[in-house]
Amino acid sequence: MVATINTHSNLSNLLNHLSQKDNISECLTCGACNSRCTWFAGQGGPIPRQMVRMAALGLDEKLVKSGMLWDCLICNRCTQGCPMGIAMDVVVRRGRSLAIAAGKIPFDIEKGIKSRLETGDVNGLTREEFVETVEWVSEEFADEMEDPNATIPHDIPGSKFLYLPNPRELRINLLHLTAMGKLFYAMEETWTMSSFHTDVTNWGYFVGKDDIAQRIARMVVAPAEKLGIETLVLSECGHGYHVLKFLLPELIGRKPAFNVMSIPELTLEYAKKGLLKFDPTIHPHKIAYHDPCNIARKSGSYDAPRELLALCCDGVVELTPNRADGVCCGGGGGILQDSTSTKKRMITGRPKADQMKATGCDHLATACLSCHRQLDELSTHFQLGIKVDTVAYLASQSLVL
Ligand code: SF4
Ligand code: SF4
Repeated sequence: MVATINTHSNLSNLLNHLSQKDNISECLTCGACNSRCTWFAGQGGPIPRQMVRMAALGLDEKLVKSGMLWDCLICNRCTQGCPMGIAMDVVVRRGRSLAIAAGKIPFDIEKGIKSRLETGDVNGLTREEFVETVEWVSEEFADEMEDPNATIPHDIPGSKFLYLPNPRELRINLLHLTAMGKLFYAMEETWTMSSFHTDVTNWGYFVGKDDIAQRIARMVVAPAEKLGIETLVLSECGHGYHVLKFLLPELIGRKPAFNVMSIPELTLEYAKKGLLKFDPTIHPHKIAYHDPCNIARKSGSYDAPRELLALCCDGVVELTPNRADGVCCGGGGGILQDSTSTKKRMITGRPKADQMKATGCDHLATACLSCHRQLDELSTHFQLGIKVDTVAYLASQSLVL
């Protein structure tokens, strides 16, 4: 159990946080949500109408015991079709906070939150390890660019941009970090990372613990404001984007002293100003695009990743359905972070695998490193032969320097 977790009493009393009104009692029991849940429609999975009704009727204990709370992908595809606008992510987040109070939380999620609160990184990367890793990557980067001034900097006060990486970039996907370094290098702007805070994720959001989400948000804001940066640039992370771009003022109780953008958004902005150029012949084929639920349906960002991707290849192919109606990759809501979920994720991801296959493309892009991992595993498991990359990574590969 995470030490800082408090006990809450009743789910229906908790639905007034994070801009969400308590309207679960308005449920019409129409079942439109059930029909839109691709996991429920597949094999097992959560039953959204049942979760809402249990919450509305105060059947908290039953809901916690049902197991549906941790199965839900918090993708809000059901919410999109709800005539009453009942937000499933809010229902499930609150339910999870009750589950945590009852001692029911997936082991890896609990461990990741503990590490995050102790070290600033869900994998427990210490400040010393961060500095060592980044300085080593920086040397490699200078060699690759054949320019001693090409660096992956950290803790530089007054930089224009602060890049907040995804934990995967500091452990198993260092190539992605180098690729992001190349984008900043081409922008010819000052940028830095912070050794005091190194993680774009916020698992407090996954588990419905606003106190933890707030603490993690403050851990991001404090070093950013101390460095005096102009813009916090987020790595490709769905829920990190949703939380830091849209929920940050609510979490810290004020507006932060910096702007927030994702790396694909920033790259596109520089491309539109004519300050970055891309060679689409580097990827002389069409690439399909997967909408991360947190970036697309939950945050309304549909066009920027598509526009950037279109600059870097022969054309963007849509999955069907897409945008607000897009299907979750099957790894959302924290299920990807639970190491016991691999088999289950090949069931939750089956509808996405079918969509991927139907495009006829052999290359697919997304704007979230968690989706990237799940989609890559789906491609292998279902023998799709589809290469999966992130949009910013493809942009970096296509850069004309
Ligand atoms: S779609 Fe909305 S109103 Fe209909 S059952 Fe689901 S939660 Fe209730
Ligand atoms: S949020 Fe997604 S996974 Fe959860 S019940 Fe709704 S559609 Fe199903």
